[in-house]
Amino acid sequence: MLKLLKQLLGNKCPKCGEGKVFKDKSIFLSIGAPKMNTECSVCDYKFMKEPGFFIGAMYVSYGLGVAEGLITYFIASPFFEKSLDLRIIPVIVLVMLLLTFLNIRLSRLIWIYMFRSIK
Ligand SMILES: [Zn+2]
Repeated sequence: MLKLLKQLLGNKCPKCGEGKVFKDKSIFLSIGAPKMNTECSVCDYKFMKEPGFFIGAMYVSYGLGVAEGLITYFIASPFFEKSLDLRIIPVIVLVMLLLTFLNIRLSRLIWIYMFRSIK
């Protein structure tokens, strides 16, 4: 499980763990539209199973966004006097914007990993 998570975060193919999914060096330092490889350069595993395959990844992305918003809230709230301080909202929005590009990549990786057993 931990190995799988490491593979996922390392932008590696879900089947062989060697080939890269995105052409970017690291999913954490990339901005702009994601450039994906269509299949694994090592084992030929197809990342995009069908047209529109990654539309479902938007749901994953939404879940990630909500989770990150909550985490940001819990980390940032001790720095505010009131527990429901509305000034916390710009902080959350900023963090979520900064994480947008990572989310696009991460959600697609998670999506690919979810379907890795289906041939
Ligand atoms: Zn592979």
